[in-house]
Amino acid sequence: MKKRVAILGSTGSIGTQALEVIAANPEIFSVSVLTAGNNADLLIEQAVKFKPEEVVICNEQHYERVKAALYPFSIKVYRSASALVSVVESDHVDVVLTAMVGYAGLLPTIHAIKAGKDIALANKETLVVAGELITALAKRHNVSIYPVDSEHSAIFQCLAGEAENAIEKIILTASGGPFRGKDREFLAHVTKAQALKHPNWSMGAKITIDSATLMNKGLEVIEAKWLFDLNASQIDVIVHPQSIVHSLVQFEDGSIKAQMGLPDMKLPIQYALYYPQRLKSDFPRFNFMDYPSLTFEKPDLETFRNLAIAYEALEKGGNAACIVNAANEIAVDAFLHDKIGFLDISDVIVESLAKTAFIGNPSIEDYVQTNEATRRFASEMIQVKV
Ligand code: NAD
Ligand code: MG
Repeated sequence: MKKRVAILGSTGSIGTQALEVIAANPEIFSVSVLTAGNNADLLIEQAVKFKPEEVVICNEQHYERVKAALYPFSIKVYRSASALVSVVESDHVDVVLTAMVGYAGLLPTIHAIKAGKDIALANKETLVVAGELITALAKRHNVSIYPVDSEHSAIFQCLAGEAENAIEKIILTASGGPFRGKDREFLAHVTKAQALKHPNWSMGAKITIDSATLMNKGLEVIEAKWLFDLNASQIDVIVHPQSIVHSLVQFEDGSIKAQMGLPDMKLPIQYALYYPQRLKSDFPRFNFMDYPSLTFEKPDLETFRNLAIAYEALEKGGNAACIVNAANEIAVDAFLHDKIGFLDISDVIVESLAKTAFIGNPSIEDYVQTNEATRRFASEMIQVKV
């Protein structure tokens, strides 16, 4: 029996790489659902090639075109984000790969878990916003959440065979992004083109900016807390510019295990989709002779404030991380539209965290409202700035 995969966000960086993995292993995987935000042309192309049962195009403007193109193949086509929550529940889905970006992943992930579907989780924002709720829900529905994020996949791989052994701490590696070593004076004038040039990874625009501000690492610290049931004090971050050591786990005897390899998201994607087995691959192999020095340094939390803000939100608990995530999404979008500068991103988040109502024990409705209220506040703040 093939594993039937639903990909939310199939036209993005993770989505297209997941389809490469699936295309390379046609006897193991099939595609049952594909969804995209705007890129109708690529969605059509993917659907014609992989013949899913169902397709969702979130931007309704493209619906008629996608529907007409896929009519000859008897592929059902749905429009708008509301369709995402129902396609993940279909009987012909075994695992849902959440590869869409941002808060928009939250509701489809909740529906998938409630329908008993395993999750291959790339959409880290879902765990940042509502990690407590999501992990409790997964437990209740006996659903597994397999990390796709390379650092969390590294930790997950290091934990194989260690079920009896407690984690003392984990060490998340960070490349440091394109502005590693720079000061705030330099950052005040950086452009979006500079910020979009990641040294080691080619990714979607939002996560690339998050990597430049170190918010990506902050989101990953929160993601790790929920995936591996840790306290903030058990999660360290170290800058490792070569991105070869993908992360590390330290056990209670002091032993440290690391997972290494060339930066290539296809490996964590296929590990998440086919766990616990490893799939043979022809990905380029790492050679120590090409990397005579692997280096490590402390992150600069004063220059890159977003990482410190994320730790603060984690300590605070409740809806704090939801506020940070929403404000960050609005601020990054504004930076990508040349409305604010690079350093303003942190200001928008700090101010939003200070001004949005704190809720200690949020329900799903509270998260929805917190997200909306924060977006409103952050957008108004940006409006005043420009
Ligand atoms: P991307 O921008 O390249 O792709 C996003 C996909 O989601 C596209 O298919 C887009 O059409 C769809 N989408 C975007 N907004 C949507 C919305 N509101 N509703 C429905 N669909 C929407 O992003 P990406 O780089 O592939 O990242 C996807 C997720 O994976 C993010 O949460 C990111 O943090 C995480 N992630 C990515 C990488 C990477 O290497 N790209 C690594 C680790 C984690
Ligand atoms: Mg990562």
